[in-house]
Amino acid sequence: MAESRPTLKPLEEVLARMLDVARTRAIRETELVPTLQAWWRILARPVYSAIDVPPEDNTSMDGYALRVADLPQAGALLPVSQRIPAGVVGRPLQPGTAARVFTGAQVPPGADAVVMQEQCDAIAGEGLGQVQVNVPPAPGQWIRRRGEDVLAGSQVLAAGDRLTPQALGLAASVGAAELEVCRRPRVALFSTGDELVMPGQPLKPGAIYNSNRYTLHALLQAAGCAVSDLGIVPDSREATRQALREAARGHDLVLTSGGVSVGEEDHLKPAVQAEGWLEAWQVAMKPGKPLAFGAIGRDDGGESLFMGLPGNPVSSFVTFLLTVAPVLRALQGSPVVLPRPIEARAAFDWRRPDRRREFLRVRFDATGGVEIFANQSSGVLTSAVWAEALLDNPAGQAIAPGDMVKLLPLSALMSA
Ligand code: AMP
Ligand code: MG
Repeated sequence: MAESRPTLKPLEEVLARMLDVARTRAIRETELVPTLQAWWRILARPVYSAIDVPPEDNTSMDGYALRVADLPQAGALLPVSQRIPAGVVGRPLQPGTAARVFTGAQVPPGADAVVMQEQCDAIAGEGLGQVQVNVPPAPGQWIRRRGEDVLAGSQVLAAGDRLTPQALGLAASVGAAELEVCRRPRVALFSTGDELVMPGQPLKPGAIYNSNRYTLHALLQAAGCAVSDLGIVPDSREATRQALREAARGHDLVLTSGGVSVGEEDHLKPAVQAEGWLEAWQVAMKPGKPLAFGAIGRDDGGESLFMGLPGNPVSSFVTFLLTVAPVLRALQGSPVVLPRPIEARAAFDWRRPDRRREFLRVRFDATGGVEIFANQSSGVLTSAVWAEALLDNPAGQAIAPGDMVKLLPLSALMSA
């Protein structure tokens, strides 16, 4: 019997559709969390600064603050009129003197440069003694200007920003003790497949261990979600419908793996259709062709989003990174879809490209070239552990050594 080839949809098209839906259903609830506990959350309200950072001119070196005009030439001597450690407020600088200053200390009013101590000789004497300045400074030298990092009244972080460690530090530097963040997405996860058993159980004949549960659970946690793990659901229409209804309760997204192909044992799509609505696609990508998207009706009258990933372990890993992760960001109001690819040089031959766009598991060799994992089968999870990046290869594109290729680093995909 001749098989008709289904039309394949470009990844961009299905992603745009999913993001449109996710954005209209973005989570509205926010939480005020201590800045110390806000790591990796998504900011719901911009952070403005009420202060200049730094709040005053301060020195970036241990040394002497002085007026450039008070130094006629190299080797000139100035009396030391005060000592200003970090955290101490100095007095205005007396003309014709220098102030001993330490990194982070305020530069006293009247001083217009700092000379680092390595370019001076301290000369003991009455009071704080004198300093011989061996290298005359340029005006402004070693002074960090008030407001050079942040100006009072400016926005330092935007709604939708991912709270990276450095973003938390910036928020703290303007004095923000708490941040308003989006509530975590609540995601229910289950695996389908009568062949699956959980690690810890004996492997019966015909069975395999459920690996997707572990990969997807961790990917969801890494994406900042609160995850409900609903285990394995048998390959039957009724069991799948019941699992979907349960999963929808109290969750923003129901995520599944397996059962979205067109085989007789693939029950997810009709079950989702019966419990809500469904758009099932054949996506022009490899791995990861079948992808199901839709929503499940809830008892409270609302709907939970549904995403059904293919069962092959590499397919579900790759489709998570390229579709679920962006949807989760959109649900939280983040504008980030996918990280920008980086260009690198292939150090391998790829003579039989697929007619679909491929996401090949690759990594860098010792000289910065790109090498490929030999077995690119969507069942070979070893490739995903070995790899550092997905090579985004256009449909039908052969690759020869020396060709420039586009990479999506796994680290960037998992930390967008
Ligand atoms: P399916 O999408 O259900 O047709 O599954 C495609 C392939 O992925 C089959 O070889 C399944 O045995 C395998 N598979 C499905 N779910 C999982 C899972 N949770 N862990 C590991 N392999 C799976
Ligand atoms: Mg299956």
